Amino acid sequence: MATAEGRSRKKHGEGSFALRKSNLDDISFQDFGNLWSFSSLFMSDDKTVFNWLRVNGLLPSELICHCGADCTLNRRSSTTDGFTFRCKKGHELGMRKNSFFERSSYNIRDLIVFIKYYIEGYSLHMSAKCANMEYKSTSVHWASYIREMFCEYIYTEYEMIRFQGDVELDESLFGRKIKYNRGKPTGNRIWIFGMIE
Ligand SMILES: [Zn+2]
Repeated sequence: MATAEGRSRKKHGEGSFALRKSNLDDISFQDFGNLWSFSSLFMSDDKTVFNWLRVNGLLPSELICHCGADCTLNRRSSTTDGFTFRCKKGHELGMRKNSFFERSSYNIRDLIVFIKYYIEGYSLHMSAKCANMEYKSTSVHWASYIREMFCEYIYTEYEMIRFQGDVELDESLFGRKIKYNRGKPTGNRIWIFGMIE
């Protein structure tokens, strides 16, 4: 039997404005498919965005300084992100320390936009364009980093199945490409993982 929520989804569609989540605390990665929910989160002020990333494990929620004291997140306008972690003794640590973003100085919001579109199957060119990212260097680097993360995730998930000997894992994004940069790509693009024991 169709539920009220089910009927509403059918009527409005998963990505519609009517189904947006307006309470930012309720938004999870699963809600990124709804552009309105995604936008209300990432159009918020820096502190809200960074706190959401901390709660959801993409930025450190707590850091302990090399002196042993706990650090708190504080404003520091001279840095790329506008925030740093600081301990009571005044030592400062970068906000991206020990995180997914540590190796980059690229704007975190733009990176999230790039990751969202790339994972949803947009071409590298389109994902880079949406995130206002350089197509040839930064986006290629980030796309390969995302694929590495995917591999690592799958590898960890499948570690429970006991393989014997050497195991190799490789990944590829399959889908229809556009010829000579003309026309629109059609059909879904999907990730394929290959594994050899
Ligand atoms: Zn310290």
